[in-house]
Amino acid sequence: MLAMKNLILILFVCTLQSCQSQNKSETSEKSSTMSTTVKKTDAEWKAQLSEVEYEVLRNKGTERAFTGKYYDHFEKGKYVCAACENDLFTSDTKFDSHCGWPSFDQAIKGAVIYKKDLSFGMVRTEVMCAKCEGHLGHVFDDGPKETTGQRFCTNSVSIKFVPATN
Ligand code: FE
Repeated sequence: MLAMKNLILILFVCTLQSCQSQNKSETSEKSSTMSTTVKKTDAEWKAQLSEVEYEVLRNKGTERAFTGKYYDHFEKGKYVCAACENDLFTSDTKFDSHCGWPSFDQAIKGAVIYKKDLSFGMVRTEVMCAKCEGHLGHVFDDGPKETTGQRFCTNSVSIKFVPATN
C-alpha cells in the first residue's frame, strides 16, 4: 500500500515538473516576442524625446522640407529609429529625391508597418516603426523606377544615422 502511495506521489511530481517546464518555455517565447515591441506611455515618450521628436514621432507631425539633417546626407551606414533604435533603412537604399526629406526606395524587411492616412484631404500611406509605432513619414509610388518605384519620404527627426564601421 505504501509502495503504491509512493508511486502515485512520484507520478504526481513528474507530471507537475513536466507541466512547469512547459510553462517555462511558453513564458520565454512570450517575453522574446514582447522584447521586439516598445510600449511606453505618452508621459514616458515626452520625457525621453525632444519636443520636435515627440511632435513628429508621437503626434505624426512633419518637419519642414530642407530643414532636417539627413535630406542631403549620403554617408555609408544605417538609419535607426530615433525613439527605439530599431534598424529601419540602409544607406544603399537612400536616394536624392529633391523633395527636402530623406528618401529611401525600401525599408529593412519587417522594420516598418503601414497605415492608411486620410488626413489633409489626401490618401496616403503612413510609415511607422514596427517596434515602437513611431511615425516616420509616408511612402509614395514615385520612387526610382529602376529599383522599387517607391519613395519612403521620411522625417530626419524620426531617424538616427549610424555610420558603417568598415
Ligand atoms: Fe521605433
